[in-house]
Amino acid sequence: MSNNLYNTSHILNDAEAAWEKCLSIIKDNVNWRTFQTWFDPIKAAALEANVLTLQVPSQFFYEWLEEHYVELLGKTIKRVLGKDGRLEYRILMESGASQRNPISINMPGSTHTRPPKENNYVDMPLKWDDPHNIKTPYAIPGLKRMQIDSQLNANYIFENYVEGDCNRVARSAGIHVAQKPGATSFNPLVVFGGVGWGKTHLVQAIGNEVRRLHPNKAVLYVSAEKFINQFIDHSRNNEINDFIHFYQLIDVLIVDDIHLLIPAVKTQEVFFAIFNHLHQSGKQIILTSDTPPKDLEGMQERLLSRFRWGLNADIQPPDFETRQSILRMKMRHEGLEIPDDVVKYVAYNVQTNVRELEGAIIALFAQSTLNKKEIDIDLAKRVMKNFVKTAARELTIENIQKMVCEYFHVGYDKLLAKTRKREVVQARQITMYFAKKFTKSSLKHIGEHFGGFDHTTVIHSCQTVVNLMDTDAEYKEHLLEIQQKVQLASL
Ligand code: ADP
Ligand code: MG
Repeated sequence: MSNNLYNTSHILNDAEAAWEKCLSIIKDNVNWRTFQTWFDPIKAAALEANVLTLQVPSQFFYEWLEEHYVELLGKTIKRVLGKDGRLEYRILMESGASQRNPISINMPGSTHTRPPKENNYVDMPLKWDDPHNIKTPYAIPGLKRMQIDSQLNANYIFENYVEGDCNRVARSAGIHVAQKPGATSFNPLVVFGGVGWGKTHLVQAIGNEVRRLHPNKAVLYVSAEKFINQFIDHSRNNEINDFIHFYQLIDVLIVDDIHLLIPAVKTQEVFFAIFNHLHQSGKQIILTSDTPPKDLEGMQERLLSRFRWGLNADIQPPDFETRQSILRMKMRHEGLEIPDDVVKYVAYNVQTNVRELEGAIIALFAQSTLNKKEIDIDLAKRVMKNFVKTAARELTIENIQKMVCEYFHVGYDKLLAKTRKREVVQARQITMYFAKKFTKSSLKHIGEHFGGFDHTTVIHSCQTVVNLMDTDAEYKEHLLEIQQKVQLASL
C-alpha cells in the first residue's frame, strides 16, 4: 500500500510520513548521539514521484551526511520508497530561505552535483582597519612568514588525543582541516565546550598537524587574552597597522577562548578585519569558545554571523569510556602501572573534566611513592576522598534507575510511566533485574518504585533479562557494561 501512496502524492504530509519511516529505520542503525546530531535536525521538504527532498541546515551538514551515511540513507530510502526511491537535499541558507535547486544524493543511478557554495560575503563598511587600504604590507622590518613562531605546544598532538563519543565530530573535523587548511567548508572551525574538556589540546593538535603536513604554511596559536593584550600594546603610535599586518601573514590562525573577546569591543573590531582578510584569502581560521557561538552575548553580530559560516563543533564532557582510555594513555605515557579496578574507580569518580583526571593520577602516584605503597583500590579510595567529594554511596533503587536511564538515554519519568515503548520496557526490565540483584528490596517494594507494578511483573522482567542474556550476545555485553557501572557506584 505504501508504494502507491508515496508515488502519487505530493503533499508535505506524505514527505513527513515517509521521512518518519526512514527515521525509525535509521534510529535502529546508528547510536543515539549520531541520531540527535545528524538526523534529528533534518526536515522533510517534499515528496514527488519517488524523490524525497530533505532540508538540511548547512552545506557542511550535507557533506557530512554524504561522507558518512550515504549508504545507510540509500538503503533506507529504498526500503521506504521502493527500489526507485531517491533522495535530494535542500540546504537552508542563513537567512532562512532554502536553496532553490535541490541537490541529489550521490547514489548509484542518480547524477550528483555539488551544491554551489553559499556566497555570504557581506560588504560591511570598514573603518581604519580596512585590510584593503593598508599600504605597507610588511611593516615589521625583516619579518618573513616562515620565521613566525607558531607558539604551539609540541605535546598537544592527535596521537595523544583520545577519541571518544564526547569529541568525535570535532576531532574528525579537526583532522580534515589539518589536511586541507582553508580548503574545506569548515572555515572557520569553531570548537566549543566546557573547561578542561580538551579544546586547547585539539586545536593545537590541528596546528601541529598542519605544520607536519604543510611545513610551508605559517601557523599561529594565540589565546584571546594574549591577542587583546597585544592589541592594547599596539594601539599607540599608529602601531595598529603593524599588528594587523602581522596577523595577515598567517595561513592558519588559531585563537583560543574567543569568549574572552566579549568585553573587548575595540579588539573585536580589529579581529573582524583580520578574520575577513584571512577568510577571503582562503586562509584557515580555528577558534575555541566555552559557549556555543550562537550564545556569545555581547559579541558583535557581524562576527557571530561569520562564526556560522563554517562548522561549530561541540566537545562534551568526557564519558566513562573516554575517561578510562585517557587514564590508560596517561599511564602508558608516564610509565605507570595501575590495576584495572583502580582505573575504573578513578574514571568513575572523577567526572568533571580531563584536567582533574590528570590531577587524580598524579595525586595517586605521589601518595604511592611517598608511602611506599602499591597503588590499589584502598589507596585510590583514600586519595580520591580528598580529591572529589565522594560520599560513600548506598546503592538504592533510585540510583540504579538513574544509571540505567542515563545509559539508555531514557527519561526517568518514562521509566515510571506505563509506556510500552520498546526502549523504555527494556530499560525498566534491566533496572528491575539489578534492583533485585544489588539491593535488599522485596519484589513488591521494587514494583512500587516503578509507579506501581506488581511483583509478578518484576519476576517476569528479571526472567526476561536472564533469558535474553543467554541468547543475545550483544544484549549481554550491554548488560555487563551497565552492571560494571552499578557495581562501581557502590564501591
Ligand atoms: P580546555 O581547553 O577545553 O579547557 P584542555 O585542552 O586544556 O581543555 O585539556 C585539559 C587537559 O586534558 C590537557 O592536559 C589535555 O591534554 C587533556 N585532555 C583533554 N582532552 C583529552 C583527550 N581527549 N585525550 C587526551 N587528553 C586530553
Ligand atoms: Mg583551553
